[in-house]
Amino acid sequence: MAAWFNYESGNIGMGRHLDHYSSRIYFGVFILGGLALLPFALWHLNEGNLLTAAPIAALVLVFWGVDAWSVLSRQRIGHGAILFVTLFCNFVGLFALVRLREMGIYWIYPMMLAVAFLVPCRWSTPINIANVIFTIVFAATWMPEALHYRLIATLLLTMTFTVLFSYNIERQQQILKDQAIHDPLTGAFNRRHFDQKLDQAYRLWKRAGQRSAMIMIDIDFFKAINDTHGHAVGDQVLTALSQYIISQLRPSDYFFRLGGEEFALVLPNTSAQQAALLAERLRRHFDQGSLDGILPAFTISCGVAGFPECEPPSRWVEKSDEALYAAKKGGRNLVVITPASENLPGETS
Ligand code: GH3
Ligand code: MG
Ligand code: MG
Repeated sequence: MAAWFNYESGNIGMGRHLDHYSSRIYFGVFILGGLALLPFALWHLNEGNLLTAAPIAALVLVFWGVDAWSVLSRQRIGHGAILFVTLFCNFVGLFALVRLREMGIYWIYPMMLAVAFLVPCRWSTPINIANVIFTIVFAATWMPEALHYRLIATLLLTMTFTVLFSYNIERQQQILKDQAIHDPLTGAFNRRHFDQKLDQAYRLWKRAGQRSAMIMIDIDFFKAINDTHGHAVGDQVLTALSQYIISQLRPSDYFFRLGGEEFALVLPNTSAQQAALLAERLRRHFDQGSLDGILPAFTISCGVAGFPECEPPSRWVEKSDEALYAAKKGGRNLVVITPASENLPGETS
């Protein structure tokens, strides 16, 4: 279910992630939805129109029932519940249209807005297209022609604006979320996302026994590059290094800029030994000289640690850092793997 609402692709660089609205907003909307519909359920009941009152009352119960469940179970309103409420809401709206005809048709508009609000655009758009087609075809059987034209025009306008509006909101949400987890200079994920991915690695281990590895990377004598060539060239080195590392990763790997000229790789489904081989490949590549023949040459030092050997995640970071420190102490331009804290065979120093 989660994949319908959240997606994350291109882990390495420009990650994409989408959550719709917060659980609290759904909670408030469901209270209001129930309050708006309750008088109509009671009115139809009072009129002795049980068949119409029942689905409206059921929708009120669904709105408030989901809220009550969320309060009692102290859980956020999940995607399954939201989808259920959306489909139920849609069903009751169409039912009211079929039963009440011209009196029910007014409900189609808020119903379409509710669908667009509750589920992402890629779901609300086809649902609302189906709603518009159904309403137009159904109304054609009994609505006077002059009114029917107006119905078609207003439904199409409402649908178009609803789609544009929700598409725009989702796009802006996505841009903000991308900005919140990315480093603007290099396109790598930032420190905030690093902490989230550590938690994820921990959960993957607990749930599926999946191991992960981390490589801490620090550019050697980076201050000298800044001092000699200027800060702008330093920035270009950071960007070029990031682009090269990103080009070398699998889609499931995560690349972070932790600050300054320090980076980290989190590699799911990878042992510390496999990670050390990748680190060594990267180290050798940068040791071969200038990245593009123009930028100044530089080297990197790497510290590698595996999870769950270094449990909990905070210790995993500490151990990777210690290995990086050992690589610096060992003369730089080195890969050090922990807990063995041994240099890789074949490395240069
Ligand atoms: P070591 O080999 O011990 O890592 O030495 P170093 O010079 O790389 O490390 P140090 O911590 O002494 O210096 C890091 C430098 O990175 C200092 C700081 O000005 C520079 N720096 C930090 N962030 C940026 C940035 O965004 N752009 C540029 N150009 N430089 C940065
Ligand atoms: Mg450095
Ligand atoms: Mg540093």
